[in-house]
Amino acid sequence: MNKAQKLPRRQFLKFGMQAGGGVLALSAIPIQLVAQEKVDPSEPLAQAMGYVEDASQVDTTKFPKRAGDAGANQFCHNCALYAGEADAETAPCSIFQNRPVVGAGWCNAWVAKS
Ligand code: SF4
Repeated sequence: MNKAQKLPRRQFLKFGMQAGGGVLALSAIPIQLVAQEKVDPSEPLAQAMGYVEDASQVDTTKFPKRAGDAGANQFCHNCALYAGEADAETAPCSIFQNRPVVGAGWCNAWVAKS
């Protein structure tokens, strides 16, 4: 980088302050405006993972993980990836990029909470 290409210190500091102001302005956006849409079971990833909003509707021939007594106790609300209280109607799930899933739901990535 030659001398002419260097950003003068004053301009650099001014740019940095403007960028910082932009970040502060973005952080003031109400959380509701950036809230993510609930996962729709008809979406391709949801279909591939066998996600349903009512765990009793799981096709256990296709997803035998939820078959039997042990499987019958698997719900999103008791999955390790459910980022919410057990009694929350919906909560973010990392499998779906932290979009909300239904607590009474289930998918094939279910993992017991430790
Ligand atoms: S990973 Fe867990 S919380 Fe997420 S959709 Fe599947 S069962 Fe529900």
